[in-house]
Amino acid sequence: MTQEPYDIAIIGGGPVGMFAAFYASLRDTKVVLIESLAMLGGQVMSLYPEKKILDVAGFPGVKGADFIAALEQQLAMFPVDVKLNTTVTDVAQVTDGFQLTTQLGDTIQAKTVIITTGKGAFEPRKMQVDGVEELVGRGVHYFVTDKQSFKNHTIAIAGGGDSAVDMAVMLNDIAATTHIIHRRETFRAMEQSVNALQASAVIQETPQKIVAIDRLENGRLQLTLAHVKDTTQQHVLDVDDLIINYGFISESKTIQGWTVQPALANHGFAVNQEMATDIPGVFAIGDANHYVGKTDLIAVGFGEAPSAVNAAIRYFDPHRGGPVHSSSLVF
Ligand SMILES: Cc1cc2nc3c(=O)[nH]c(=O)nc-3n(C[C@H](O)[C@H](O)[C@H](O)COP(=O)(O)OP(=O)(O)OC[C@H]3O[C@@H](n4cnc5c(N)ncnc54)[C@H](O)[C@@H]3O)c2cc1C
Repeated sequence: MTQEPYDIAIIGGGPVGMFAAFYASLRDTKVVLIESLAMLGGQVMSLYPEKKILDVAGFPGVKGADFIAALEQQLAMFPVDVKLNTTVTDVAQVTDGFQLTTQLGDTIQAKTVIITTGKGAFEPRKMQVDGVEELVGRGVHYFVTDKQSFKNHTIAIAGGGDSAVDMAVMLNDIAATTHIIHRRETFRAMEQSVNALQASAVIQETPQKIVAIDRLENGRLQLTLAHVKDTTQQHVLDVDDLIINYGFISESKTIQGWTVQPALANHGFAVNQEMATDIPGVFAIGDANHYVGKTDLIAVGFGEAPSAVNAAIRYFDPHRGGPVHSSSLVF
């Protein structure tokens, strides 16, 4: 027996896909949310669960993991099919919609597709210093999953972007001493984050780069820092932990292999005001899309989600009409 197709298949269970799935069920559609990882939450859960997010409306500062927990609670208000550990390896057009194929060879039928795959699978940008990879998990970290593990430690954070600066300020409340090592004089972070760093006791090592890392007999790490313009000027730093925060690179080969290939704009799928791609019935929101003025932020993706869901409904059920509130104002 063939299964009834879903009204909407949402590919990617990051924050934007989660909210889109909730909004789609609020509009009483049959929706499936498909995520390749074992958990929902996308970049927030995988890359910065401990970071405080400051720029989502209604949350005056919320830890990444708590924010995703709130989205999960919201998603659970209605029955939504959530498929974890499921990578969509192909999307193809079939009569009356789309067929999605997973890495296990299973197929899922849907009338419309909303792509919320972000920038694809992601991994941290690696530090290019001899021997550093062997020390990962032995004092060297690319992820911070539990900030309490740095309690009373002397730590160094390598990096100068938003995430590195925010992490330094946040961990400084817990660590005994915090250093931030950056190869430029100035930090490339939001003004408020830089202000918080300047006001904190974090020790700024700039413009410096790490040229060697050694593990001492007592288990601590000895970092050799060199001035960027004159590498003969060196000093050493003994720390318990080194957190590397050089940003992330993403992999989009799986998506590039799909039969359905919407047109691109820069590194995202090109969309119109309805978040529709050039393939009728396929929409893209969140970090997965691009248009003039697009900013890759959660709040932006959240705004795009209702536009895409409502346009998807208009696509498969043109007579249904738009969303209404009992309290709608009449102009
Ligand atoms: C370090 C860092 C700090 C940040 N801080 C902030 C901040 O403070 N405020 C803010 O607004 N934004 C911040 N951002 C950006 C924000 O995290 C992204 O804009 C947001 O996560 C985008 O959500 P998304 O759901 O579109 O994509 P993602 O979060 O990238 O989720 C995409 C999901 O799709 C899944 N996926 C990919 N391909 C497939 C496939 N083929 N099949 C099934 N699943 C698939 C992935 O596993 C992933 O879970 C930050 C980003 C980083 C890296």
